[in-house]
Amino acid sequence: MTRTPYLPPTMPLPAVTEDTRPFWEACRRRELVVQRCTRCASFRHPPAPLCWRCRSFAHEWVAVSGRGRVFTHAVVHRAPLPALEAAVPFTVVVVALDDAPGVRIVSNLVDAGPGELRVDLPVEVVFEEMSPEVTVPRFRVRRA
Ligand SMILES: [Zn+2]
Repeated sequence: MTRTPYLPPTMPLPAVTEDTRPFWEACRRRELVVQRCTRCASFRHPPAPLCWRCRSFAHEWVAVSGRGRVFTHAVVHRAPLPALEAAVPFTVVVVALDDAPGVRIVSNLVDAGPGELRVDLPVEVVFEEMSPEVTVPRFRVRRA
């Protein structure tokens, strides 16, 4: 039951800042990237100028597979914003990425069937263009 777009384009879009620009540019290329500290090798997300572990500013952007597992989830039934009233119910998930230990991305699950949503559900990234500047990563169930 994938809706296109999953959430309406009238909803407030993420701000593209100096720190987040490489992430959003990668999403526009349909590529998921995360920061990795070049001093202690910790992955981090959301993008930040400073390593939460060693306080180094040195980092690189690393492409990841976009595969992961649902760490936790919620189904939103009451729209938190007027722009989302037509979109409820929708699913919010926190996804733990398979190849970036410690990274969890807050997103949406676009295609879970009734009763299918659960912790540890295997998922993979899909991208949804919301505006010319912003393409957002969402997730779908990874089926064998
Ligand atoms: Zn570090």
